[in-house]
Amino acid sequence: SLMLSIRVAPFGERKKQRLVVGRDITKIFHLNLIRRDFVANASHELRTPLTVITGFLETLADSAQTPSNHRRPLTLMQHQAERMRNIIEDLLTLSRLEMDEHVLEIAPVDVPCELEQIVADASALSGGRHQFSIDIDSELLLLGKNNELRSAFSNLLFNAVKHTPPGSHIQLVWTDTPSGPIFLVEDDGPGIEPEHIPRLTERFYRVDKARSRASGGTGLGLAIVKHVLSRHDARLAVASEPGEGTTFTCHFPPGNALSASQLEHRAEA
Ligand code: ADP
Repeated sequence: SLMLSIRVAPFGERKKQRLVVGRDITKIFHLNLIRRDFVANASHELRTPLTVITGFLETLADSAQTPSNHRRPLTLMQHQAERMRNIIEDLLTLSRLEMDEHVLEIAPVDVPCELEQIVADASALSGGRHQFSIDIDSELLLLGKNNELRSAFSNLLFNAVKHTPPGSHIQLVWTDTPSGPIFLVEDDGPGIEPEHIPRLTERFYRVDKARSRASGGTGLGLAIVKHVLSRHDARLAVASEPGEGTTFTCHFPPGNALSASQLEHRAEA
């Protein structure tokens, strides 16, 4: 079968005419499927050997017979193995999101409850080095997929912790607006130069590779966020001022908002 990408654009001086451009994307589509399956299989295959390595490293680290001058290299290896595990898990998450691109079984998600856990994890990650202000509408639920939303929201909040220096202030907002529910994370960290913004959601794109690696990032977080949001018909907005800070906002469609009391009525009916 043939796959076509069709674009219709206004044409001519008075823009009354239309220009239709059709492009055969069959090949691109199939190459994309091959790439997707390859990444999924490779990540899956890497899991087992890594588990074995991690297991032996742990045995060595726990052993009293391990010479003391091996302790530090062992710790470093454990740390790097953990990083590799995070990358593999993120790659698998991304492949799963791509595989069932159109199947999203939605159910009411208790976002306030999820956020409570995410905030607790983020403050553990921060270790008291950041100030948080949290503004959560405890009545506001969302139709969507629980684990996907959790991973998108925690990626954004963890990024604010990872990419800002100690003493930074992080604000989190979950609220309804006339144009739909929004989830927002704002920080007063280093900000992001405008030329990087359009590329942030690309896989493995980092503004500062060395620093991102040091902070334990996989470079896949925002790619995951973008996929999750598009599956929820939602949109990610990034506003940043170098030297001032960064705001990531997820805009959800108004139709997906649900109030806790509405849900109770539904349950009673
Ligand atoms: P990473 O695993 O490196 O965090 P992400 O895909 O989550 O990967 O983010 C991509 C890059 O965007 C990061 O490496 C970092 O350079 C930049 N970034 C993300 N969030 C922030 C933030 N709150 N402040 C400054 N830079 C950020």
